Order: sequence, then structure tokens, then C-alpha cells
Amino acid sequence: MSTVIDSISARLDRRARQHVPGGVNSNVRLAAPHTYFERGVGARLFDVDGRDYVDYLLGQGPNILGHAPEKLQSDVAQAVRRGMLYGAQHEAEVLAAEQVCEILEWPEMVRFGVSGTESVQAALRLARAETGRRRFIRFEGHYHGWLDTTLASWSPDGECSPASAGQLSDHLAEAIPTPWNDLEAVRLQLEQHDDVAAIITEPVMLNAGSIVPRDGYLEGLRELADAFGVVLIFDEVITGFRVALGGAAQRYGVTPDLAVYGKAMAAGWPVSMLAGRADLMERFGSGEVNHSGTFNASVMATAATLSATTILREDDPYARMEAYGERLMDEVRGSAARHGLGLHVQGLGMAFHVSFSDGKAICDYRDLGRTDTERYGRLSRVLADHGVWVAGRGVWYVSAAHDERDMADTLTRVDQAFAEFAR
Ligand code: PLP
Repeated sequence: MSTVIDSISARLDRRARQHVPGGVNSNVRLAAPHTYFERGVGARLFDVDGRDYVDYLLGQGPNILGHAPEKLQSDVAQAVRRGMLYGAQHEAEVLAAEQVCEILEWPEMVRFGVSGTESVQAALRLARAETGRRRFIRFEGHYHGWLDTTLASWSPDGECSPASAGQLSDHLAEAIPTPWNDLEAVRLQLEQHDDVAAIITEPVMLNAGSIVPRDGYLEGLRELADAFGVVLIFDEVITGFRVALGGAAQRYGVTPDLAVYGKAMAAGWPVSMLAGRADLMERFGSGEVNHSGTFNASVMATAATLSATTILREDDPYARMEAYGERLMDEVRGSAARHGLGLHVQGLGMAFHVSFSDGKAICDYRDLGRTDTERYGRLSRVLADHGVWVAGRGVWYVSAAHDERDMADTLTRVDQAFAEFAR
């Protein structure tokens, strides 16, 4: 008689499905293996069945200092001993605001929130109030959160439509979908529409393909926004505090009018931020534009922001993360070639993209149509079976905690996973 050994993860997943739709609390996790983790330390995750993984998902990006960084955890723990939420002001929100403005250099004012989604909403509302116009230019394949007016599904030829049942057909009516990395396309849209309030862009297209801006592209967006009196919004939810301490604005030397941050800014604690020019942001201060939130700038959020940004500033892990990621990209390419897998790897060291493509560089969202996402999804599950935890949609994030041992284990495991996948 054979006994089927049921993993603890599988049992928890069955229980979860009784009370949590799909067994997950974010639809992004529906397709991933429903593995249950017991803890994370540094660049490692440990599941409830006693297996360890080198983590390149990092909670979808935020864990830039790795899991459970001691100083960050103890700073937050110490702060919340004095309470968690006052429904009023406290000194740490002033300190956090001063510190992020100093680090980022360009913004004069900030408002903290909890999720990137809501801070994007605040940015778009502010841009509309400023310009008195309704529409915004957005780019093919870019993700700006899950609200009715931003959540989009993209067709291979760049049409966007609601991505969820329950979204109304006209919810995306204010969005003007435009190909990215193509300044002429943006100019044309601005010439054709006189009601554009904002251009919103991920400054590096990390949600799809890890595509970097062409030389002069972000500068060109800046010039077009100025020429047409449009608010330029960088959605730095992934890039902020990741592609450089000062995010993409610093890395590429282009200053937006508004920018949204989240993820890496508080290194895993749930905090987002809208940053911008004082004349725009003061519309919140005057009460003319509403931006609210019970949990905004909580003791935890401000302590985490202060601590994480201090560690990132002092430790300055960016060159190290980039070098680690670049080496890993090379090794993944090499291993894939040895096993005859046509994997394409591109992007920045600290956030790169792996896909099954025809070997040509992915230069825009439409190029992703040439990649075999279903096959990559299967590969990501084989990688998980071998102890490498990655997102099913191709992005790999590197943290300041990844070290030589993590690299060595990753290379062995990747090679084993690729060998099995190629069989
Ligand atoms: N903007 C970008 C570029 C993102 O990648 C995300 C989330 O992945 C968001 C906005 C939404 O942020 P959140 O998931 O914190 O609501």
C-alpha cells in the first residue's frame, strides 16, 4: 500500500481555500505555487516543510535589505512601543519627510500613504486639479495599481481594456494608451488631445521586460510635458530606492513634477509616498484636493521609512547589488545555453527579466508578445522545486543581503532546475 505524503503547505492551502478566495490575499499570487513560508532571513526563505529557497522575488520587490534585517526590525519595534497610531501628528513624520526630500533631492514636499495604488490615485487627482484637464497619457504594459481607472489589460497591439470583471467599460476612458520609449508617439498624442493633465510612466519598465529608457527618452518626456503644460509623473514604486538611492530620477538625471514611491522605500513595511513640487503638493495642504488615509504616516510607517532609508544611505549597497545581479544574469544565460534552453536575460543587475524569447532584445511591451510566458511560468515552478524563488512573470530582484553563498547555491540550483526542465 503506498502512502501519499501530504506537505504542510498543501494542507494549509486546502484550509485557506475554505476561507480565503483562491487561498491567497492578492490575485497576483493566484498563479504562483501556494507555498507557505515559516520565516525569511537575509536572502533566504524557509517554508513550513523545512525547505530553503534563495529569494529573488523579495515580496515583489520591497525586501531590498533582505528578510528580517535586524536594525530595521529593532528600530520599528522600539518606535511602536510608544503606540502605533495617534490620529494626529508626531515628530517621526517630520523627520521622515525631511530625510526623503534630502535623499531624493528634487521633491519639496511629500505625503505618505500605505500602497502604491492609492498614491498613484493621489498623483492623478492632483494633476487634474492643477491643470483642469481630465485625461492622462499612460504606456503600454505599465502597471499602476489595481484601481478601476488604472487596472488595464493590454492587447498585443497596444489597446487597453478593463482587466477585471466589475470594472466598467468606460473606467479607462481617461487613459490614452501610448507605446513607451517612443517620443514621437507621445508628441502626437499631445498634439491630438488638448485635455491631457498628466503623463504617467514607470521610468524603467520593470513590470514588463526590464526595459530601460532609450538615451534621451525621459529628458524628452520632460520637455514635452513642459511644452504642453502637462504634469510629468514618475511611478517609482519599483524603481525608487532600488535602481539607485534616488531612484530613476537620480539614475537618469530627470526630474518629474510628481513621483510615487513604495516597495523598497521602507524595505518591506507597507508604506507608500507621493513626492512633488511644493506648488502642486500645497493643493493638499490648502484642503482643495483631498488625500486621506487612517493609516497614513503611522508610527510604524515613519519609523520604517526613516530606518530603511538611513541604512540604504549609509550602507550604499547599489554597486554591490548591481554587480551581483549582472554576474547572475551572465550565469543564468550560460547555464541556459548549456542546457539548450533559449532563455533571454536583460535588464539592470538589481532587477532583471528572464524570458523564453527568440533571442532578440525586448525593447517595448509589444516585443513581450514574442515571449512564451506559459513556458516561463512552468520553469519558475521547477526553479521553486529546486530552491530558487522567483516571480512567474520573469522579473528577478536582487537585495543587499544576497552574498557569495547565496550566489553559489543559486548557481547549483539553477543548473539543476534547467537540466530537469530541458529533459
Ligand atoms: N506602480 C507600480 C509601478 C507597481 O509595480 C505597483 C505594484 O507592483 C504599483 C504601482 C501598485 O503598488 P501597490 O501594490 O503597493 O498598491
